[in-house]
Amino acid sequence: MTVDLLARGLAQASDTRLVDVGRGVLARSGTVLAETLFSTGRPALVVADERTWNAAGRAVHAALDAAGVEVAEPLVFPGHPVLYAALENSEAIRERLRAAGALGVAVGSGTINDLVKLASGDLEQPYAVVGTAASMDGYSGFGAPMSSDGVKVTMPCPAPAVVLFDLDVAAAAPPGMVASGYGDLSAKIPAGADWILSDAVGLDPIDPLAWELVQSGVTEALSQPRELAAGNPDAYAGLVSGLVLSGLAMQVYRGTRPASGAEHYFSHLWELAHLGADQDPPLSHGHKVAIGTLAMSAFYECFLARDLTSLDIDAAVAAWAPWEEVEADIRARFQGALADHATAETHVKYVDRAGLRQRLGTFVGHWAELRPRLEKQLVPARTLQRMLRDAGAPAVPEDIGLTAADVKATFPKAMYYRSRYTVLDLAREAGWFDELVDDVFAAGGLWS
Ligand SMILES: [Zn+2]
Repeated sequence: MTVDLLARGLAQASDTRLVDVGRGVLARSGTVLAETLFSTGRPALVVADERTWNAAGRAVHAALDAAGVEVAEPLVFPGHPVLYAALENSEAIRERLRAAGALGVAVGSGTINDLVKLASGDLEQPYAVVGTAASMDGYSGFGAPMSSDGVKVTMPCPAPAVVLFDLDVAAAAPPGMVASGYGDLSAKIPAGADWILSDAVGLDPIDPLAWELVQSGVTEALSQPRELAAGNPDAYAGLVSGLVLSGLAMQVYRGTRPASGAEHYFSHLWELAHLGADQDPPLSHGHKVAIGTLAMSAFYECFLARDLTSLDIDAAVAAWAPWEEVEADIRARFQGALADHATAETHVKYVDRAGLRQRLGTFVGHWAELRPRLEKQLVPARTLQRMLRDAGAPAVPEDIGLTAADVKATFPKAMYYRSRYTVLDLAREAGWFDELVDDVFAAGGLWS
């Protein structure tokens, strides 16, 4: 990560003030935290589970003590079963922080960070995170996904003030975790393409700094899958930086658009269906995202194999389904509260025939410049599949317990799931959606 880019990102980020990624970070963590988060003399409460306590928590606790920071008795959750992102766990942390008058230092990957983030947000106080695995891009993001009464909700809360990541710790984490982070970062490729399309019709304007934070390091960060799988610490610099910068980009943009597109909706839908939830450890976010990323990369290839400039706009407008028909289709595909959710989300991006004519006209009129930008942004699906496999990440639907038919059936749901505009919407508006989904799964395709 270039120092300059990081500095520009931190200057615009809503919450994070300091990021330190490298080798030897653990050893200097006490001094760094004493000079930043704990400069006001508040005590520190290290929160970990048994695994992350052994990986880094004990060292951070000792380093804080040695640097003269008052340390409260650490809060160490059992390592097994895997800690759950549930409100009661966050409330337990909040009460320990309150009782000790302490600021939290989360030591761990996704869940521990989310729990301490929410607890600190409740108390309106800053916290630090010391990452232990390159498993996802949520370290430096705001908001905490929590389960409450069986429903998944993202609770609003600020991102960490300080993010520390020691590359030797990341490299020693279980191999499935780096595979997950690799999958989550690979998503930035099709997600960037979706952002280009949405920007082109004025829905989500590209913010140049947020774009640069997410996209500038992706190619390099994904360039050494075998070394990552082999646990070579130096190979982790790019991946960890990429994941942290992606979170900063969300802070700069004040939304998740820079870091996710339609590929993430496959993952969210499978998560809502509890895919792999009973595995030990449960199927990770990044593993599901990897398959969503391949699905969307293959879809983009089929899309770009056609010539949008030869689209018969009159015919597309004439064939455009009225809203009642769209809503009926959504309600046939989703059940219960999710049907209401998808209906409301899709309604936001639905346009009438005049709106469709204008939208398609804009795409066709600018396709000569949009097409090369998309081609430059994308990586061939087969290349990406090989890279994911080399990193130990899922490369075929069966790797996450699905069939190609399951992934195929998820395409229309992914289109309806969120109001965010993606290539799936453009394909539907052009009247190509069903044919392109068939193309993705045709003989000779990625998963045929
Ligand atoms: Zn993600």
